[in-house]
Amino acid sequence: MRAIALTGPERVEIVEVPEPDLLPGTVLVDIDRCGIGGTDLQAFRTGEVPAPAWFGHEWSGRIVEIGDGVAGRFVGERVVGAVPPPCGRCRPCHAGLGEHCEEALALIVGTHPTASHTGGFAERVRVDARRVHRIPDGVDDSNAALAESAAVAAHAVGLADQRLGDVVVVVGAGTVGLLVAELARLAGAARVLAVDVAPARRELACSLGADAAFGPGPEIGRWLAAAGHGLGADVVYECAGPPLAVEQSLLAARHGGTVVLVGTAVPPAVIDPADLVARHLTLRASRGYTIGDVHRALDLMADDRFRVAAIHERMVGFDELPAALAELSSDLSARRKVLFSPKD
Ligand SMILES: [Zn+2]
Repeated sequence: MRAIALTGPERVEIVEVPEPDLLPGTVLVDIDRCGIGGTDLQAFRTGEVPAPAWFGHEWSGRIVEIGDGVAGRFVGERVVGAVPPPCGRCRPCHAGLGEHCEEALALIVGTHPTASHTGGFAERVRVDARRVHRIPDGVDDSNAALAESAAVAAHAVGLADQRLGDVVVVVGAGTVGLLVAELARLAGAARVLAVDVAPARRELACSLGADAAFGPGPEIGRWLAAAGHGLGADVVYECAGPPLAVEQSLLAARHGGTVVLVGTAVPPAVIDPADLVARHLTLRASRGYTIGDVHRALDLMADDRFRVAAIHERMVGFDELPAALAELSSDLSARRKVLFSPKD
């Protein structure tokens, strides 16, 4: 079968590789779509991945073969790859922290022995059957490939303790930030402001339901003065990562507000504990997602309340994927989601 192999920094090749063997407890999935995500672009830039299966992990597809010991799946079932249930055997599981299960992480990242020798930029993958989740009717293959990002967004919104009528600021309008903004609205926010350096993303945020979108600067304060009753935001979701974005997120929160950290701050941001105490801020860190978040995100898409199609920019096949990776990697600011389809 054909696959895209990462062969070095900014170097990928279209290669012929053997189809993955079916193992007990696994299924073989024909890839329909695979989104190019931030981790794929990071892998492309550095030439390094924790495991080959990690390169292209936002996929949707169809089950074509089922291994021994797998129950409840059928050939032809449309599925996405996502987090499996906690193993119940590792240290975090024994401590009651199933969301931090070491085996689940190994299965997701692709370092588990059953992981495929390629990621989703291929015609077919082998995947542990516990990792596949059915795509509801009403969610197409392209939108389903956003399931993992949408679940990350749902997890963050779930941690925020948002209330009806809250004023919300989303810092960073990349894929996850855009999805967070939409879900924050669905969760009852009265006003949603998106903040991003890229005009194209700000425009997209507004078309997806944000009330306003600004670049970093004094306009945020002016908007909050009006929409936030002069107090600031009830909830701020930090989905960008740069230290400045973290610092601005803390500034945008009102006295007693909540800041949810979704982006990963690199390099470290400066946070003033005295300010957190003085303003009685709640800081929540949101890492990953649960199976419940996947179900919630897909069900909302199926009900046509969570509309994600506008996040997709275009679809590429094998021949165009190397150029698409190079293009996206060199210009992170303005692009929307590009999907790979092996049938294209
Ligand atoms: Zn575990």
